[in-house]
Amino acid sequence: MKSAPGKNHREGITLLDLAKKFPNETAAREWFEEILWPNGVRRCPSCNGTSSYECAHAKMPYRCRDCGKYFSVKTATVMAGSPIPLLKWLYAIYLDVTSLKGVSSMKLHRDLGITQKTAWFMQQRIREAFAQKRGGRLFGGPVEVDEAYFGGRKHNMSNTKRKLARGRGPTDKAAVVGVKDRTSNEVAAEVVKRTDAATLHGFVAKHVDTSATVFTDDASTYRSLPNRHYSVRHSASEYVRGEVHTNGVESFWSMLKRAHKGTFHKFSSKHLQRYINEFAGRHNIRDFDTPQQMAILAKGLGGKVLSYKMLIADNGLDSGART
Ligand SMILES: [Zn+2]
Repeated sequence: MKSAPGKNHREGITLLDLAKKFPNETAAREWFEEILWPNGVRRCPSCNGTSSYECAHAKMPYRCRDCGKYFSVKTATVMAGSPIPLLKWLYAIYLDVTSLKGVSSMKLHRDLGITQKTAWFMQQRIREAFAQKRGGRLFGGPVEVDEAYFGGRKHNMSNTKRKLARGRGPTDKAAVVGVKDRTSNEVAAEVVKRTDAATLHGFVAKHVDTSATVFTDDASTYRSLPNRHYSVRHSASEYVRGEVHTNGVESFWSMLKRAHKGTFHKFSSKHLQRYINEFAGRHNIRDFDTPQQMAILAKGLGGKVLSYKMLIADNGLDSGART
């Protein structure tokens, strides 16, 4: 996903322009319909039929001629069942793509005039949309692979020290392993239960082509990767040796850590993967113009369902503050 060649800045859109372009709910609805039903083909979410007519139903303005079901552009998206107007979803999307450090539910609550609980739920659903599927496409490299740790009590331990202590007993921190492809500039990251060799090798195999060169630090867990592999000796305070470094993936961790501190104060470990998806997703579309980024995110809302029940269901990790 790259911008046009030779382009070195992306087009933004001001809040005033956004208000002019989307003065009301109808304008927002038309925008969502254009994105989720391209070429004017209105698709029934129940039977995939393409023949429907408009009706007077306020919440479900279309009825399918094939199966008779009523639907709206929200049906069968993560917005299904949400009473929040599409105009507010559109503004939330705008704030999310333009805020590099993320948007807290407290800010969204204030900016959109909705409850904080509703704002939090909206944000978690938008995070689902940020989790763009790469369709099994592997990074061609060269790539940098690294881990980072979030939460827990060992605040005074530096990331490097913690990594050197790898494998020496359990930690209360959540571990995340990430990869950055130097060619496409894209990142992918996953919360992992362990940082042992099997887990890290599995992560690399899932995201990186075996022909790609891999750069890591000198953790023993990365030894014997099937890829061509070079490491910098962080344990000996070596951070860069020519092209051998992990600075790219580490700058992604820095952004996450700044957001953790400045915007969210706490990432609940239960939802950590969603925050990671949001930051990786925003990173991967950063070369696009703001209206394009908004369209990509709106498109990502489609074809997914996430109910409040599913969201708060126990996934085996701690619950935490909603931020
Ligand atoms: Zn139908």
